Amino acid sequence: MHNAKPLPSYLVQRYQGWKATTYAENKTWYRRLADEGQRPRAMVISCCDSRVHVTSIFGADQGEFFIHRNIANLVPPYEPDGDHHGTSAAVEYAVTALKVAHIVVMGHSGCGGVEGCHDMCSGKAPELEEKSSFVGRWMDILRPGYEKVKDIADEAERKRALEKQAVLTSLENLMSFPFVASAVETGDLSVHGVWNDIGDGSLEHFLPAEGGFKVV
Ligand SMILES: [Zn+2]
Repeated sequence: MHNAKPLPSYLVQRYQGWKATTYAENKTWYRRLADEGQRPRAMVISCCDSRVHVTSIFGADQGEFFIHRNIANLVPPYEPDGDHHGTSAAVEYAVTALKVAHIVVMGHSGCGGVEGCHDMCSGKAPELEEKSSFVGRWMDILRPGYEKVKDIADEAERKRALEKQAVLTSLENLMSFPFVASAVETGDLSVHGVWNDIGDGSLEHFLPAEGGFKVV
């Protein structure tokens, strides 16, 4: 049983505007996309945060990115235990079926999920420790990352460091998926970690050789 309502009118209006302009002007292209199926070159894993706008930042058109969004852009470790794993399913499909060439994990400034993890790990958010907290249990993935940044004295700096740990933890966990590890090994797939500062629009990418994130 559900009680779904019609689409809110502001969304209906925006949709009709899109259909009459963007769609109408590119109808052939949309039909071709429908007929040929998707062949995205990259998978992007980003936060659900409404300010993170990967298609805008990279100027992406329909069909270019296979996008998965979750709280704090986290990839869990490889756990083939028969449970529901939405993120792992998206990674599996992107790598084994779509054969994407790149996986980009994008973190961002002011991440509420990361802040929740920070507060939980520092004892300030007991509600997130509850077994019934979906956010808390999801953010458990980042607990090892908190251990790496907990000694940073300045709180804002510590949270920012934890946002970047979320990206690095995801990159590490990606490599625990056998099909990711083997595609990286053969050179068919590369993984990338980036962090976006919402306020100043800057983007940093992780460069292992330099041991940290550098402005793109
Ligand atoms: Zn976020």
